[in-house]
Amino acid sequence: MSAFSLKKPKKTCDDQNCPFHGTLSIRGRVLEGVVISAKMEKTAVVRRDYMNYMPKFRRYERRHSHIPVHNPPCINAKEGNWVKIAECRPISKTVAFSVVEKLEEKRGGGKS
Ligand SMILES: [Zn+2]
Repeated sequence: MSAFSLKKPKKTCDDQNCPFHGTLSIRGRVLEGVVISAKMEKTAVVRRDYMNYMPKFRRYERRHSHIPVHNPPCINAKEGNWVKIAECRPISKTVAFSVVEKLEEKRGGGKS
């Protein structure tokens, strides 16, 4: 946790895989995305939109990816939340990221 300056969530939890209150250490990439599903227990799916440059046409194409992330109870991100996620050790077969911060509800939406 020393290399990162992340806001600690207000709530606390007793989740072993929580980057703030458990033993999970985060390292590697830090990304942002929007939660598209939070139906699983302590797991959410984050969609990330990005541009990919295609040299043949010298243009960008829109791409997106779905990243399964760990959703600790103290953060408890909901569908539609914009979140910051950080890479960690693999928690399960597909999950190797954890939500570390809930950002504003929607980015670039009608609400200012
Ligand atoms: Zn926690």
